[in-house]
Amino acid sequence: MPSNALFYLTRDDMPLVSHADGIYMWDTQGRRYIDGCSGAITCNIGHNHPRVKEAMVRQLDKVAFSYRTQFESQVALDLADRMVELTRGELDKVFFVGSGSEAVESAIKLARQYFVAKGEPQRSRFVSLRPSYHGSTLGALGLTGYEPLEAPYKAITLGSIKVPSPDFYRYEETDIDAHIDAVLKQTESAMLTAGPETLAAFVLEPVGGASTGARMVNQAYLDGIRALCDRFGCLLIMDEVLSGMGRTGEWFAYQHWGVAPDILAMAKGLGSGYYPIAAMMARGDLVETVTDGGGFMHGHTYAGNPLACATGLAVIDAIDEENLIDNTREQGRHLRARLDELADKYGCIGQVRGIGLLQGVELVRDPTTKEPFPADLNAFDILTRLAKQRGLLIYPRRSLNGLRGDHVLITPPLTVTRQQIDDIVELFDDSLAAFETSIA
Ligand code: PLP
Repeated sequence: MPSNALFYLTRDDMPLVSHADGIYMWDTQGRRYIDGCSGAITCNIGHNHPRVKEAMVRQLDKVAFSYRTQFESQVALDLADRMVELTRGELDKVFFVGSGSEAVESAIKLARQYFVAKGEPQRSRFVSLRPSYHGSTLGALGLTGYEPLEAPYKAITLGSIKVPSPDFYRYEETDIDAHIDAVLKQTESAMLTAGPETLAAFVLEPVGGASTGARMVNQAYLDGIRALCDRFGCLLIMDEVLSGMGRTGEWFAYQHWGVAPDILAMAKGLGSGYYPIAAMMARGDLVETVTDGGGFMHGHTYAGNPLACATGLAVIDAIDEENLIDNTREQGRHLRARLDELADKYGCIGQVRGIGLLQGVELVRDPTTKEPFPADLNAFDILTRLAKQRGLLIYPRRSLNGLRGDHVLITPPLTVTRQQIDDIVELFDDSLAAFETSIA
């Protein structure tokens, strides 16, 4: 029975969910959908995973909740150790929270407290990219580079110095190298103007999701940003809320380029949709400085509760033992090749981009001029609806650069098979054909 009480439901055609298994979901009318976007790029290990369910029930039978100032929990200790291993020891401290926004918020606060403890209290400003998305709480929103989300809250958010994100599609310079050079110069100039001695941290997503339709950094850009942070004495925070936990074919996307952050935020794939769990990881020496300065003045009630940590551990075990990182690389390559075929077939595809099972498709009115669809057409929404009518879920989000186009994300669970990728592509192909007809 539809309710009028939930006010985040903005659409009247939303089906009621019934159950899910693997990459499939069913509504209460018995319709089946392929979850081609893992919900919101969250359910990385697929639905109804027996190992995770068993681990959760086992933990529930022992203790679901214990408060971190009253008890340590073995599963929290084990999960933290495991996560340090995943970063190959580059980040050796873990702080658990419940959502991506909280992880980013924790990163902001750790960076700030570090500089206060270090005797550099003037370092209070953050630099972030436009476009970008870092979450919906006020600190994380302050870093977010997307005007419609920022606008109502500008007066009450932390705010940040916004610099352009590299754009491997619509850059205006002669080639990528010249573009990266230009972006780095603009970034350096903005940091110099702000006053390097006032900067606490630079924040970026190595592979964007909702914000940019899987725009990626490259080696030269990341090396350049790391060098600027080192030169100006500020920290590098990476937001891998969406790109972490195997999604790109490495445990964390930054590992593709070998440039480690000082602080890392992760979330979605860690609980894989089974339970809200997220984390901030940091270099041990930062945490020691903060601890010596009186301790981290931050925390949430549900942080590191045993049920959340048992879920996270079971998810990591599943990814490990089922070789899902290898599968992500292999199926990601196949998905990309098949999407590139569709780009040749349909004029409305401007670019396919991304890595592993994080693939974005940019929609354009004209692939030659790269002219976007008008914003009020809501091209992404039309395509998403057409796909859903055909039983395929894709991630619907307007490109957060607002006036410059639409994109959709195709990000199935990491368990996806080659045949299932072909099924996804067949439905997407059909949806694109219907899309082109509907806008003709
Ligand atoms: N950072 C990034 C890169 C995200 O993609 C998201 C969510 O989409 C967030 C932060 C916020 O995470 P949450 O919605 O769990 O608060």
